Amino acid sequence: MTKSTHFYQMFQPNHYDIALNINRETKEISGTSTITGDALENKISVHQKFMTIQSVTADGQAVPFTFDDQSEGIHIDLGKTGETTVAIAFTAPLTDSMMGIYPSYYELNGEKKQIIGTQFETTAARQAFPCVDEPEAKATFDLAISFDEHEGETIISNMPEVKNENGVHTFDTTVRMSTYLIAFAFGDLQSKLTTTKSGVQVGVFATKAHQANELDFALDIAKRSIEFYEDFYQTPYPLPHSWQLALPDFSAGAMENWGLVTYREAYLVLDPDNTTPDMKMLVATVISHELAHQWFGDLVTMKWWDNLWLNESFANMMEYVAIDAIEPDWHVWEMFQTSDVPMALQRDATDGVQPVHVQVEDPAEIDAIFDSAIVYAKGARMLVMVRTLIGDDALRKGLKAYFAAHHYGNATGDDLWAALGDASGMDVGAIMNSWLEQPGYPVVSAKVVDGQLTLSQKQFFIGEGKEVGRQWQVPLNSNYDAAPVLLKDHEVVVGDYAQLRQASGKPFRLNVGNNSHFIVAYDDTLLQDILDHVDDFDSITQHQILQDLQLLAEGRQISYGTLVPLLTRFADNQSTLVATSLYAIAGELKKFVTPGSAEETQVKAYFDQLSAGQVARLGWQDRDADSLDDQLIRPTVLSAALYAENPAAVAAAHDLFTANRDHLESLPASTRFLIIRNEVKHFGSATLIGDLLAAYRATSNASYKSDLTYAVTATTDPEQITRLVGIFEDTDTVKPQDLRSWFYGVLRNDRGEQAAWDWIRTDWQWLEDTVGGDMEFSTFITFISRIFRTPERLAEFKAFFEPKINTPGLTREIQMDIKVIESRVDLIEAEKSAVTAAVAEAVK
Ligand SMILES: [Zn+2]
Repeated sequence: MTKSTHFYQMFQPNHYDIALNINRETKEISGTSTITGDALENKISVHQKFMTIQSVTADGQAVPFTFDDQSEGIHIDLGKTGETTVAIAFTAPLTDSMMGIYPSYYELNGEKKQIIGTQFETTAARQAFPCVDEPEAKATFDLAISFDEHEGETIISNMPEVKNENGVHTFDTTVRMSTYLIAFAFGDLQSKLTTTKSGVQVGVFATKAHQANELDFALDIAKRSIEFYEDFYQTPYPLPHSWQLALPDFSAGAMENWGLVTYREAYLVLDPDNTTPDMKMLVATVISHELAHQWFGDLVTMKWWDNLWLNESFANMMEYVAIDAIEPDWHVWEMFQTSDVPMALQRDATDGVQPVHVQVEDPAEIDAIFDSAIVYAKGARMLVMVRTLIGDDALRKGLKAYFAAHHYGNATGDDLWAALGDASGMDVGAIMNSWLEQPGYPVVSAKVVDGQLTLSQKQFFIGEGKEVGRQWQVPLNSNYDAAPVLLKDHEVVVGDYAQLRQASGKPFRLNVGNNSHFIVAYDDTLLQDILDHVDDFDSITQHQILQDLQLLAEGRQISYGTLVPLLTRFADNQSTLVATSLYAIAGELKKFVTPGSAEETQVKAYFDQLSAGQVARLGWQDRDADSLDDQLIRPTVLSAALYAENPAAVAAAHDLFTANRDHLESLPASTRFLIIRNEVKHFGSATLIGDLLAAYRATSNASYKSDLTYAVTATTDPEQITRLVGIFEDTDTVKPQDLRSWFYGVLRNDRGEQAAWDWIRTDWQWLEDTVGGDMEFSTFITFISRIFRTPERLAEFKAFFEPKINTPGLTREIQMDIKVIESRVDLIEAEKSAVTAAVAEAVK
């Protein structure tokens, strides 16, 4: 299709009256969607998917219509234009697809139960009721729902219920909103409620399979996040309530439906007394992310999906701004530095990556742009760059104006830049468009040439990349005043280096704070100066030095071997930031050696050497005196010691397992996953795996479930590997939402790689039928590309996926992942001997 056919151009709804009847027993949905709106043409179209249409009337009269699966529409011949009320009666199946209206399954006291919930983003509202299912088509909605209701069940939606007559639950009319944000859910729910300072009711809902205190953490964070946003945005929360609901089956992480946010259970409910601090921070940022959307995304919505970044990049930044404000002791921006930043820098360095702003039309392609590394992580980093440039006062002033101008309506990126530009007096659009519209990012080279300090920019690639002369407006954030604020050209001469160095008294640095989306390649003189003073720098800078050098090594601009002695220098550093980047690099060294080889033994010895000091300092037991950094570093270094097969570490974990054999769930969450995994790996048996699988089926604790997945998939026994692959399709054990982590767990196990790879190739059709419609489907391919590293696997990957390259929504992922594996294969070939030599030298 060359011409874009947005249905909104033909028919602009103002109001919907939606009546739904949902039957869990017969798995059927029936209803009517009555839409009042303005017909701009005689012939209009309304979205539907997987529906049977009983009748269509316009202003009470039957009108001719045709039905078209290709465009997911009903084409209606009104025979007139202007204000019209169209009523469509329909039936639709209730399917287990985690899209549209769908059941979530769980067990309570041995009884199988279900909750009905919804997931409409991006284009699945049309599976629930006929509608103009485009973000720009905002309208008000009256929702009336009946279902095969049992005593004690609860139903919730975007707005409060206003009446219940004969089992028909009617909700208050919504504000003007987009279809993809409509939500409701019903079932046997428990809840906890509170009220914000401004009077908004806040609630957390979950199944009764959870302990009541598992709802407390989320309730507190949600309440304080809304209070924070009302103040920061200077715009009141627009609805009477904000419900947070955990659904047992959920494809994505969470969804910002207006007034009824839905979450994967792992990202909402948690044991307040035994959950790791990093998991708590993650849950807090997921909640604050979704609540940021209640304004940015829900109150003001992108005009079309090409501006999806407006929603996601912004919420991804604000989740950190909010949590940093309400829990400053968590230093949550460090998590941004160790998760989002490296993810964006890695993915965005592969040629063929999409820009943050990308044109899309087809629904499958819309789903494919929800790329966590680009639209979320890189986009957030772009906005962090803007925030650093203009400051919080201008940001808040600009946002207030933006919400006032576009509330209950739609906007584009240019509208945001205009508002921030007005507030700051800077041409924000001109700077940001170079980042928004172009894929990739620059490496800025800092060199002393003939005594002159010189800076130049060039696109950075990992693997083969075609240089097409892209340039960015780079906020340099140098510690030398002589350097420009923005590097706009290819090259700039800063001045006489010796004089600058003398005047400053400090090594020359760029991207101080690591808030701009570029990396720096210092020449030998400048780098040596930095390394000579490395202990004087803060932990963000130390982390940044390691991270930039790793990327330069991945991009073959320096040798990987040079990183090895550097890691040793940082081994005892007590900052989480530094430890995380250090072990990220150390972990990459594993790819250069063959499992079971003498070289691998040396890498293990190197891990033992790196971790020894910290393991001795921190030990296996959490202590009251632990700092937050101690708590976060402990599992990292213990994991390194276990990978190294350090005999004392293996024995300590074994002893802890033995002592807690009958109540593994109560082991401290910070080391539980390591203790159980160690047992499976070194002392495993069929009985043990059977016990752990039974525990997995029985528990509703998502953290514990994830620990068990991590542990069980580490088995080295071929028979047990076969057993695990055998449960991939047993949805009573492995929910489709969790299959990715089971698959990945087996795939990354050297002994399981072949079996997992064989499974996905053989049962691809089953996988596509089961989770093919969900937004995260392509991540199965991404996971494979993280593991494969040999020419043989590259050839197999191409042989299997190249014939699928035209599958809607998979094209870019397959192209990207082929490049990712190719560049890894080349890197290993080129650097293997340098790495193994450096490791041998380090452990001598
Ligand atoms: Zn989001």
